[in-house]
Amino acid sequence: MCRTLLLLFIGLPFWVQAQVPTVNRSGEITQLVDQVNVSNLRDYMENLVGFGTRHTLSEDQPNRGIEASRQYALGLFQQFAAASNGRLTAEIDYYTERTDGRRVDQDTRTGNVMATLKGTDPSDNRVFLVSAHIDTRVSDVMDRVSDSPGANDDGSGVVAVLEMARILSKKPFPATIVFALVSGEEQGLLGADYLAKKAKQEKWNLVAMLNNDMIGNSTSNGTQLRDNTRLRVFSEGIPMVENEQMEAIRKATNGENDSKSRQLARYIKDVGERYVDQLEIKLIYRNDRFMRGGDHTPFARQGFTAIRLCEFNENYYQQHQDLRTENGAEYGDVAEHIDYEYLRKNTAVNVAVLANLASAPSVPQDVSLDLSPRAVSIENINHTLLKWNEPEHGSATGYYVLMRETSSPMWEKKFYTSEREIKLPYSKDNYFFAVQAVTDGGFESLAVFPQPIR
Ligand SMILES: [Zn+2]
Repeated sequence: MCRTLLLLFIGLPFWVQAQVPTVNRSGEITQLVDQVNVSNLRDYMENLVGFGTRHTLSEDQPNRGIEASRQYALGLFQQFAAASNGRLTAEIDYYTERTDGRRVDQDTRTGNVMATLKGTDPSDNRVFLVSAHIDTRVSDVMDRVSDSPGANDDGSGVVAVLEMARILSKKPFPATIVFALVSGEEQGLLGADYLAKKAKQEKWNLVAMLNNDMIGNSTSNGTQLRDNTRLRVFSEGIPMVENEQMEAIRKATNGENDSKSRQLARYIKDVGERYVDQLEIKLIYRNDRFMRGGDHTPFARQGFTAIRLCEFNENYYQQHQDLRTENGAEYGDVAEHIDYEYLRKNTAVNVAVLANLASAPSVPQDVSLDLSPRAVSIENINHTLLKWNEPEHGSATGYYVLMRETSSPMWEKKFYTSEREIKLPYSKDNYFFAVQAVTDGGFESLAVFPQPIR
């Protein structure tokens, strides 16, 4: 058979026929993402490391120490606030950290630098929180005197949060975004613990917490990997806080890979990769690195949905180290090692995710998988019937019903409906499902894993 005939016979070549997923970017969010500016990140970083040390117990001095750095960050937040039509406000939330006999050896006045971008819908009390830690350390965690630039840990997170506040404060969102630069991370996650307990006590409707800790280094020591195309998102599978009923439902539905934090992690991968080119977001199925924790951990302990964003490769010569050269190796977390293009992309992920979340309606309510006698009758048993109610905040023009195989990390199929129920010809035994509310602009809420109802 000649070539022409063969083509006629099989029709169009496969690459024309192939179904490729469409990337649907909102112009509004693209415009925000494009504003992440490397020279701003560099400028904030140079100022931050200029304070010598930002150790939580460091002495207050005009141009040195953590308090001077908090004042610098507050000044920037206030500058952004002035251009925000009154939507952004900033303060330092001071409190006294008491001697704990471990990493705090004297009562210390400390505080978190906070900026709040108030939502424009007064009936919408949702809060999205993004954080980084402003404090630093060197080899001895109690050394409050030596130079401790903390460029990557966690200057990278701090400058990213500052840049997010600058960009996002120019635009109104119905829900509230809080930018937090916490202290005391290296002394035991103290500032984050204080903030998580406060949010719990004051009954914040805190929907999601994103901790950015070390997002600017792209090379590993030892294995010598160089890669600025991957970002990790750590999320717990089984929630740290569960009551008996939650535990029973999780076990009955095999929901151990569908916690709220895991849904948030999937959302970050989906939205982050949608808006940021040359970046792959890797879901890591653990709360944090092996046997370790971060500022999202106290939030998880208070029952909040919280994840950590972190570079893929870590360099331990540049983390928690006295500045020195030893056996020809350079130690210390200095700004020269920051990969600003990588930091730009990781900042952009946060911008896209926060803007998408704060523009979206809240999650659909009462999402359930119907196990009533009719739904499990012989005609319907191989189908899956899902039902839900409208979100409490914002208006949804429709819903995405997400589906994946039980062994798949990410959602694989997405059905759109404007109804509040759907009957799918896929067995609930073979797939997992979830539902998102979506606006006509395409801003989707977090996904909700259904609860069984009989
Ligand atoms: Zn850190």
